[in-house]
Amino acid sequence: MKFVGAHVSASGGVFNAPLNAMKIGAKAFALFTKNQRQWVAKPFSKEIIDKFKKNLEKSEISPKYILPHDSYLINLGSPDIEKLKKSRDAFIDEIKRCEELGLELLNFHPGSHLVKVGKRDPEYHNKIMEAELKALDLIALSLNMAIDATKDTRVKLVIENTAGQGTNLGYRFEHLAHIIDNIEDKSRVGVCLDTCHTFSAGYDLRTKEAYEESMSEFDRVVGFKYLSGMHINDSKAKLGSRVDRHHSLGQGEIGWDTFRFIMNDKRMDNIPLILETIDSSIWDREIRELYNLVD
Ligand SMILES: [Zn+2]
Ligand SMILES: [Zn+2]
Repeated sequence: MKFVGAHVSASGGVFNAPLNAMKIGAKAFALFTKNQRQWVAKPFSKEIIDKFKKNLEKSEISPKYILPHDSYLINLGSPDIEKLKKSRDAFIDEIKRCEELGLELLNFHPGSHLVKVGKRDPEYHNKIMEAELKALDLIALSLNMAIDATKDTRVKLVIENTAGQGTNLGYRFEHLAHIIDNIEDKSRVGVCLDTCHTFSAGYDLRTKEAYEESMSEFDRVVGFKYLSGMHINDSKAKLGSRVDRHHSLGQGEIGWDTFRFIMNDKRMDNIPLILETIDSSIWDREIRELYNLVD
């Protein structure tokens, strides 16, 4: 079974997210459990938690298919010790908020190394590789610390692959594998593949052959057992551009064929498939069209 939804608004309160998911006929959804552009959030009151759980029951969506996303400010690989500490604290708080709402997953971007190297520096590639490796180790350490600090929860930390814009890590499957390799409790870690990011990072998905090749590379390097969710987006940017610009399904460089492959791929059964496409007014239609692709 496929569980398709979108990253819905939680404005006015997290308890509105399940209702917003219902309105678009979603069987899954994503949300921010706090303002994604602020470091600190007021703790949930019992009233808010109860209201969220009541609305979730009404929506008939299981927590298995809810993929909360953390704040964009968090950088678990920051070279700035103050920002790193702030990120780690905020990340642990995000895990606790998910647990309080009865949620089981937390989706996040790995982080950025922020090291500037001149393109004409003869050591460019070595310096970038060194910065990336250092940050990947730091991210894994941050995750081990977060898992340790939340031992009483079972929230799975779901690393998202990225387009590789700027100094973002996670644009190679090897980056995800490197992080996972260094996590002590692997039962607490998963991966989210974003179709837009995968494509702009250079993994083609447009033909059946290209799709199968990219997916078997993912399986070889990371492993489908870690796949805990997907973001279903078309891309305004071209293959390998490393630019992160989402588009509505069928209107970008990826096209409908890829989404048909996904909707008929058993490896994507029983995980949240989340739209982060740019026009929320057509999400209900995009969800219906995705289900219509199932053979
Ligand atoms: Zn995404
Ligand atoms: Zn994106």
